[in-house]
Amino acid sequence: MKYRIGLISGDGIGPEIISGARKVLDKTASVYGHEFEYKELLLGGASIDKTGEPITPETIEGAKASDAVLMGSIGGDARTSHWYRLEPSKRPEAGLLGIRKALGLFANLRPAVLYDELSGACPLKAELIEGGFDIMIMRELTGGLYFGERKTTVENGLRTAVDTLTYNENEIRRIAVKAFEIAGKRRGRVCSVDKANVLDSSRLWRAVVEEVAKDYPGTELTHMLVDNCAMQLVRDPRQFDVILTENMFGDILSDEASMITGSIGMLASASLNDTSFGLYEPSHGSAPDIAGQDKANPIATILSAAMLLRFSLDLQKEADAVENAVLKVLKDGYRTADIMSEGLKCTGTQEMASLISERIG
Ligand code: NAD
Repeated sequence: MKYRIGLISGDGIGPEIISGARKVLDKTASVYGHEFEYKELLLGGASIDKTGEPITPETIEGAKASDAVLMGSIGGDARTSHWYRLEPSKRPEAGLLGIRKALGLFANLRPAVLYDELSGACPLKAELIEGGFDIMIMRELTGGLYFGERKTTVENGLRTAVDTLTYNENEIRRIAVKAFEIAGKRRGRVCSVDKANVLDSSRLWRAVVEEVAKDYPGTELTHMLVDNCAMQLVRDPRQFDVILTENMFGDILSDEASMITGSIGMLASASLNDTSFGLYEPSHGSAPDIAGQDKANPIATILSAAMLLRFSLDLQKEADAVENAVLKVLKDGYRTADIMSEGLKCTGTQEMASLISERIG
C-alpha cells in the first residue's frame, strides 16, 4: 500500500537521525511491499533560516496532508545560536508548540524500555530490573496546569501567583480511550495516576477513567497516587504496563522513567490526535554538541518510526520487524558512542542505521 509520511529533519543532529530512520523505513517498505512517499517539512531553526518563521502554513498543510510525520529534533544551543536572540514567539520551540496545537495532538506516548543488553546503564539495582521492563507512559498534552489561566499580582503588598488546573470530562475521556486501546495491544493493564486524595480535577479524572474502563472489560484498571507512582517507578518498574496520567504528572513521571532506562539515545515518543495521525520523534533534543559528526544514536528515531508504523499506519508486523532488528543489532554487540561498553563494536549514526536495515526481513 502507499502511505504519505511527512519528514521534519529539523536542527542539530536532526538531519542525520532522520536520514538513518529513512533508510530503515525504505527497507521495511521494500521487504513488505509498501510505498512510502516522503514530504520534507520545515520546522524550528531550519524554518527560521529559510522563511524567517519557526513554522509556516506550508508545514501545517503538509503535515495535515500526511498519514503521519516523523521528526528529528529542533532547537540549538541557547547560549550561542542566533535563533535565541529572537523574541520567544519566533524561536525554534515555538514551531514545536505550533505544530502540536495546529494538529490537536493531545496524547503523548513515551515508552520507557530497558533492554537486557543495556541494563548496565540503568541506575537501579540489578535484582529490581532482571529481565528488563517495558512501560508506556501516556500523558495528556493539551490541558491541565500548563494550559490553564495564570496570573501574577500583588495582593496586600505580597507578590502572588496563581495557576489553574482545569480538565473537562471530554479531555479526560479521549485520552483514556487511547490508553485502553493501546493497553489492549500490549499486556492489558492500565494504571491511572492522579492525586485524587487532594485535587478535584483528579477526582473527575478517576471517575471518567472508570467509566471508560467499562467498555474494555479485558483490560485491568488500577489507580495510583502520583507521589506513590514516583516511588514505585524506582522501587519496582516491572509492575507497570501503561501509565495514564494528566499533563504535569506525565511530564515529571516520563522524565523519571526515561532516567531509569539510562540511555537518552534509545527513547522514542509519539503525539497523537483523535484520528490515526501522529507526530513521532525521539525524546531527546537536537544535541548541537555532536551535530554533523556522525556520532548521534539514531535508535530513538528508528524506534519512533516503528511507533509510526504501529499506531498511524496500523502496520503491526512491520513495526515488530523494526523493533526486532534493533534488538538483534544490540545482541550482535553494536553500539553508538553514547551506549558503548568495553569489548563491543562502536559504530557511527549511518552505520548503525544500515546494520538495523540489514536485519529487517
Ligand atoms: P539534548 O537531548 O539535545 O542533549 C543532551 C545530551 O544528550 C547531550 O550531551 C547530547 O549530545 C546527548 N544526546 C542527545 N541525543 C543523543 C543521541 N541521539 N545520541 C547521542 N547523544 C545524544 O538536550 P539539550 O542539550 O538540553 O538540548 C539541545 C536542544 O534541543 C535545545 O535547543 C533544546 O531546546 C532542544 N530540544 C528539542 C526537543 C524536541 O525537538 N522535541 C526536545 C528536547 C530538547
